[in-house]
Amino acid sequence: MKQKLLTTLATLSLTLLSPQSIATDTTVIYAGSVLLGAKQTLEKQRTIIIKDNIITDIVKGFPSVVELKLPDAHVFDLKNQFVLPGLIDMHVHVTFERDATVNPHQWLTEYEADNALRSIKYLKRSLDAGFTSVRDLGGNYKVIFPLKRAVERGDITGPRIFAAGNAITATGGHGDLHGYRKEVSDVMTSSLGVCNGADDCRRAVRNVIKNGADVIKITATGGVLSNTAAGVNQQLSDDELAAIVDTAHHLGRKVTAHAHGTQGINAALKAGVDSIEHGSYLTKESMELFNKTNAYLVPTLLAGATVSKEVLSNPNMPTAIADKVREVAPKMEASFKLALKNKVNIAFGTDSGVSRHGLNADEFVLLVKYGMSEKQAIMSATVDAAKLLGQQDRLGQLSVGKQADIISVNGSPLDDITTLKNVQFVMKAGNVYKNQL
Ligand SMILES: [Zn+2]
Repeated sequence: MKQKLLTTLATLSLTLLSPQSIATDTTVIYAGSVLLGAKQTLEKQRTIIIKDNIITDIVKGFPSVVELKLPDAHVFDLKNQFVLPGLIDMHVHVTFERDATVNPHQWLTEYEADNALRSIKYLKRSLDAGFTSVRDLGGNYKVIFPLKRAVERGDITGPRIFAAGNAITATGGHGDLHGYRKEVSDVMTSSLGVCNGADDCRRAVRNVIKNGADVIKITATGGVLSNTAAGVNQQLSDDELAAIVDTAHHLGRKVTAHAHGTQGINAALKAGVDSIEHGSYLTKESMELFNKTNAYLVPTLLAGATVSKEVLSNPNMPTAIADKVREVAPKMEASFKLALKNKVNIAFGTDSGVSRHGLNADEFVLLVKYGMSEKQAIMSATVDAAKLLGQQDRLGQLSVGKQADIISVNGSPLDDITTLKNVQFVMKAGNVYKNQL
C-alpha cells in the first residue's frame, strides 16, 4: 500500500494533487478534545495511533513516541484542536455545480472529459471541507465511475465516493432530460436508467448495477430543478417501485428515493426503500412508515435554501422551475421538524452541486437552526451516515479497527456548530490532505 502510494507520488509533477504527507507505517495524533466511538463520547487528551490506514489504538493522555515504543512514528499535534471523524455527505453531485451565470446550454457543447476535469476541483473542495466520504446520487456513469476510480488510485484528491451512476426514472420523469426539442433529447438522453413498467425497471436496475452502481437512486416523484411543469407528485408507479426495490436488494444494493410529494414518499416507503431524499411534504402517515421500516430521511435543507435565494436574483430561471421552487422549498423546514419530533432516522445530505461544493457544512447550521442538537447533527454526518451507507464497520467513528478518517476544528462544534465550516486538518485513510496548524 505504502509503496504503491509512493510510486504514484513520484509520478505526479503537481504537488497540488498529492497528499501533504503519506502515512508512515505508524502515525500518532495528539487530540485535545475528541469524539470517540459509536456514541461519539466527548473525551479530553487522547492519543490516536494509526498503522497504515487503520486506527490501531486510542490511549489516555499524551505519551511520547518513545513511551509508546513508536520512535519512528509521524506525529500530528492537535492538542489545541477538537477532533472528530471525517464527515460523510449522503447526497452530492460531484459532476455538477449549478451556476446561474453560465449559459445553460454549455453542457451540450462539451464531452464527458470536460465534465470530469471540471469535477476535480469540486472533489478537492469537498475533501478540504472535511468530507472524507460522499454518496453521489445520479451522475452520468461515464463520468462518475472514472472519477471514483481516479480517487481510489490516488490520481486525484477527493473524498471516497459511493456512487449511484444514472438514476432510475420513468420516461419524462425527474431523472430524464427536459426542455429540449425531441431530436435533441433523443440524442442526449442516456437510456441507462429510464424505465417503464415493472419488468423494464428490473432491467434498468440490473443495468446500472452492471455498470458499477454502489447504490440505486430513483426519482419516485417529480423534482424541483427539472425543466417541466409536471409537479412533484409520484412518477414511478407502485409496481415499478416494488420491482426496483426487490431487484436492488437481491443484488445487495440499497435504494434511495428522491421524493417530494406525499403520495410518492409514502409509496416509496411502502415499497421498502432504504431512504428518502428531500422528503418535502411529510405527513403523519409518512412518520408511521419511516418508523415501521427504519428508513432514513436525508433532508437536504441546504438545497432548498440555495434555490430559494437564487429564484429571487436569477431572471433566467425557467418559469417551470421557479414556480416549483416557490412552492416546494418553503415546505422543507416543517417536514424536517416533523421527522425530528417523530425520531425518524436522519442522515446528513446537502445536494451539493445545487449549492457550491465545499460549502457542505452549511447544512449543519440549518439542521441546528431547525431543532437538531449539535451532537445529533454531527452523528447524522458520521455514525448515522455510515449506517445508511452500510459501512458502519469501517467508517463514521473513531474506534480501534476503523479507517483513519480524522478531521479537526478550532473550538467545540458541540457549543458552536459553525466551527465545522472551518476545518483545519483532514486525514483520509491515514493520509493527511490538509493541515493548517
Ligand atoms: Zn440531488
